[in-house]
Amino acid sequence: MRLSFARSDDPADGRVGATPETVSVLTRHGIRVEVETGAGERAGHSDDAYIESGAEIVPGADLFARADIAVSVVPPSPDRLAAMAEGSVLVGLLRPVHAVDTVRVLVERGVTALAMELVPRTSRFQPMDALSSQAGVAGYKAVLMAADRIDKMFPLSMTAAGTVRPAEVVVLGVGVAGLQAIATARRLGAAVKANDVRAAAAEEVRSLGADFVHIPGVTDQEGGAYARMLGEDLARAQHEALAPHVARADAVICTAQIPGRRAPRLLTEEMVEAMPPGSVVIDLAAEDGGNCALTDPGGEVGEYGGTRVVPVPQAARLLPREASALYARNVAHLAEHLAGQDGRLPLGSGEELGALLLVRDGEVVHGPTARALA
Ligand code: NAD
Repeated sequence: MRLSFARSDDPADGRVGATPETVSVLTRHGIRVEVETGAGERAGHSDDAYIESGAEIVPGADLFARADIAVSVVPPSPDRLAAMAEGSVLVGLLRPVHAVDTVRVLVERGVTALAMELVPRTSRFQPMDALSSQAGVAGYKAVLMAADRIDKMFPLSMTAAGTVRPAEVVVLGVGVAGLQAIATARRLGAAVKANDVRAAAAEEVRSLGADFVHIPGVTDQEGGAYARMLGEDLARAQHEALAPHVARADAVICTAQIPGRRAPRLLTEEMVEAMPPGSVVIDLAAEDGGNCALTDPGGEVGEYGGTRVVPVPQAARLLPREASALYARNVAHLAEHLAGQDGRLPLGSGEELGALLLVRDGEVVHGPTARALA
């Protein structure tokens, strides 16, 4: 089996699906590894480092045409995908539902595509869970961005010249990114409040030394293990519960998402305008429409009554070395499963890895993506 790692086509995203460390692991499993020229450059890995760990360096023009299994982080450009051979496989964070242009090319080419976003969130699949690995990096980076943009220090400081109160941070959504954001903000000394619709999140929030903001009326029916969209009344109750905390916040970190849906709107225009001057909203949900009503879908930073609203799509890309190291390990675990089947890819119906299928031999098998294309 030949695994071919592509250079990112996104100038703002230098993540790569293999590191010299994972190339060594893959080649030990008898997998032939090709890496596109310069693919690891922006994540800190030279072509020579890949060669030393057993990979072959392949020019960009050839990579997709030669690949049995091509691996990217973000969806490759449709032009480059058009070189893929029928029956070959693409693996990546392929943005199911959203990246329709990518999917159209995959269908035309008769390619099979596995979306890392579709890895089941169960303990068995945890080593392949790229959404979690990237969300952890994103939550950390979001807090550093906030700390760098607000006009005050994060920690409490008691000096002979007087006391400086700690920054107040509100984290919306307590999944993987939110938990990492809370932990990072606490480590920097901020006073943190957090909210989620899942009741289980309250205990996790408190265990990190932060306060949980309850929404009156939200039950496990809305929260449960995975969040659902709140009805209008509960959404209003949530705005009311959050408003006094947001009005005091120096930074709000938005991480709330509902898989396959538009991100929930948790911050209204009025809530942002009530924030103190010099404060910031970092919206990690920007790509899915944003948690903040003022988040610019084009990614531009806006300023409203002295509060900056910063959309940060794919925040993990801002730490390409670490994000790539984690993603590469997720991919290596997947590759070990793909390779262990006597040359046959274990992607049939009923087989566990079948859950990752976005497209099988040119047919879109992921329902929501098929509907988005129709
Ligand atoms: P996510 O990125 O899909 O969403 C982030 C958070 O936003 C979630 O906690 C969600 O409940 C919350 N949210 C949604 N709507 C909201 C609203 N209206 N208001 C406030 N918050 C809202 O989440 P995630 O990081 O993928 O994690 C989701 C769940 O999956 C969590 O329970 C997490 O513990 C679990 N998980 C399990 C595994 C595993 O078992 N392998 C791995 C990762 C995550």
